[in-house]
Amino acid sequence: MNGEPTPTGTASGSPDGGRFAPAAGAPRTPAGRTSPEALLQALAGDHPERLVHVHEVAARAAVHADWPEWVDPSLLGSLLASGIEHPWSHQVEVAQHAHAGRHVVVSTGTASGKSLGYHLPILSDLVAGASAPNGRGATALYLSPTKALAADQLSRIDALALPAVRPATYDGDTPTDERRWIRDHANLVLTNPDLLHHSLLPGHERWSSFLRALRYVVVDECHVYKGVFGSHLAAVLRRLRRVAARYRSTPTFVFASATVADPEEHASRLLGMPVAPVTVDGSPRASMTFALWEPPLLVDETGQPKRVSTITETGELLAGCVREQVQTVAFARSRAGVEVVARIARERVATSDEGRVAAYRGGFLPEERRELERSLRSKELLGLAATNALELGVDVSGLDAVLLAGWPGTLSSLWQQAGRAGRSGERSLAVLVAADDPLDTFVVHHPEAIFGRGIEATVVDPDNPHVLAPHLAAAAAELPVTEADVEVFGPQTRALLDVLVARGILKKRPRGWFWGREDRPADHLSLRGAGEPVRIVETRTGRVVGTVDDAAAHSQVHTGAVHLHQGQTWVVTELDLDDHAAFAVRGDPGWTTQAQSVSDFQIVHEVEHEAWGPLRCSFGHVTVRHQVTSFLRRLPGGEVLGEHPLDLPPRSLATKAVWWTMPVDELAAVGVPEDGIPGAAHAAEHAAIGMLPLFATADRWDIGGVSTALHPDTGLPTILIYDGHPGGAGFAERGYRRVRAWLGATREAIASCECATGCPSCIQSPKCGNGNEPLDKQGAIALLDLTLRCAGPGPTV
Ligand SMILES: [Zn+2]
Ligand SMILES: [Zn+2]
Repeated sequence: MNGEPTPTGTASGSPDGGRFAPAAGAPRTPAGRTSPEALLQALAGDHPERLVHVHEVAARAAVHADWPEWVDPSLLGSLLASGIEHPWSHQVEVAQHAHAGRHVVVSTGTASGKSLGYHLPILSDLVAGASAPNGRGATALYLSPTKALAADQLSRIDALALPAVRPATYDGDTPTDERRWIRDHANLVLTNPDLLHHSLLPGHERWSSFLRALRYVVVDECHVYKGVFGSHLAAVLRRLRRVAARYRSTPTFVFASATVADPEEHASRLLGMPVAPVTVDGSPRASMTFALWEPPLLVDETGQPKRVSTITETGELLAGCVREQVQTVAFARSRAGVEVVARIARERVATSDEGRVAAYRGGFLPEERRELERSLRSKELLGLAATNALELGVDVSGLDAVLLAGWPGTLSSLWQQAGRAGRSGERSLAVLVAADDPLDTFVVHHPEAIFGRGIEATVVDPDNPHVLAPHLAAAAAELPVTEADVEVFGPQTRALLDVLVARGILKKRPRGWFWGREDRPADHLSLRGAGEPVRIVETRTGRVVGTVDDAAAHSQVHTGAVHLHQGQTWVVTELDLDDHAAFAVRGDPGWTTQAQSVSDFQIVHEVEHEAWGPLRCSFGHVTVRHQVTSFLRRLPGGEVLGEHPLDLPPRSLATKAVWWTMPVDELAAVGVPEDGIPGAAHAAEHAAIGMLPLFATADRWDIGGVSTALHPDTGLPTILIYDGHPGGAGFAERGYRRVRAWLGATREAIASCECATGCPSCIQSPKCGNGNEPLDKQGAIALLDLTLRCAGPGPTV
């Protein structure tokens, strides 16, 4: 429960720290002429079974459309001058919706020019508005999750050189005098949701002229607002709509998303109003060969099944590509992983090519970044290992091949990373190397999960009371909350307002609910996570080296924990709960630790259920109690050195969950006897947790699970999967809505792993609080077969 996702194949030795340093004067080679097929054959060598599947991603021709007749002539002139002759179809679709005042979400591929779609109506209106008496007849707000994106957006708009458009970025670093100018004169403000929450909304009077003219709000990269962060954004957008209405503005919202399964649902939930989707991509795409690769399963010295690590395999493949003179980038999930991939690749190539392999981990100085880009362009550099930090900051595109060490977390990141390969007119190669977990096992054996119709949705729960209540308080401080606002904030609102009044935070008066205190509510609430994080403090110096999520602290940085932080190993000497600090010393003791815990849950309220014959599947509110009780010390081979008790208080989490129950005799009838139920249910629970991120963009630690052979509330064997955040985050609900597909995939992931009795690729979990005991692979398959048979095909969608 609530463990840290294990970095893919972390290094146990110390990384050799090779920063990017190409050998001087390395020979230049012509563009790689090796075909993707020939390259794959060379890479597979004597073990062709590692190459599980090859998919051809067909080229797509561009679909153009005409410029809308209403586009401002000066804007059109700038765009034509910049070389854009015709817009693509999806850009015009977005433009027409927004121009007509319909909220719209565009969800198309990377580099499909999403911003042009909303630039057309917004910049046209800003130009027209400039002739208003105050020079500001129309304004627009652009929200992005990072400053870098806002800066990028600003430079694109600046490049159009439209004198009537006065854009400005407004963030925590903006100097006070500039802030004033921006509030009074800018007609396009580029900022982030945090600033909206902490500054613009609480100080809306100072923004009155801007808000009075507010015509558009752009929410860029809206797929990142998922889980609890998504609930916060949903509340901030509702506050913005309400404050804008105070100034008689009803802005049109434009959402831009990476490609996800249901952008319309996501954007509509974020906004709380219907949003029209634009999902047919009119931009052209080159063809690509996409290979799915599974490292071989071997047996270790203790007889346990053990896969060659994804990182080792990716390092070997990178070396193979470099040997073929194919320019390749390999993406790994952790910095330590990147170092190891590069080191292995260097060891496996000819000495003359060693200097042509580099590791990039982000955090480079601008000149280092430029040097990297230059040597990629000149082909001095043939092999690059990188975290996805590369996605922001360095222009690396047009490579011959991309390797992905493990599922990158989401389908959209997968395509974003794979999209780094391919120069115009030439076929490129992408290879996904499966990591040692059930989701990776499933996708390499079920290519339709990647290449078929998307199943991964971004989820958000706008009604999470833990998030909504403080935002209601903040809203009341901005403008008294009235009866009419209850509709804006959703069905929970009235009950939450009562609670806030009872606690003395709000005051109820005839005209509505008022903020009843001296201070400002927004100061007490951060959008980026709940609970004070625990600091990791170097014992010797008192230096803070990092933080760990409050929820994960007990299992990750308990006293005695060996903790991997940014590729360095630390041993925690003391966890001080009162001080929110874990004191640690640097060094690798030669073992790893794994927290052991006990969990149970109470069903508080079943919101919905489906009867599946003798089985029952439910969604609702639960309280999960979790206590870390001890930890194991293990040698790198897995051998346990000892178990050490811990004295930590239990923690209880009120959240939402999906669960299902199965009668004992039904299980017996499919070959799971009573004493086999704990192992079967536990194994099914692990794999189900591992598979849920394929259906809802969650991280593994956003989700927890508990299974039991007899639950006091249900009286039956029960498997429960819950949101790891107070109040829930939408993941369990998504699991409930897609339960047949989700559990079907879970069953497939277990069955398609070729191990005999279970391994990390199917039913073992790196964060199990029970040391992966008991686990029964065949029992889990039988249990899931029973579940799926009783669930039936379900409602046809
Ligand atoms: Zn297995
Ligand atoms: Zn477990």
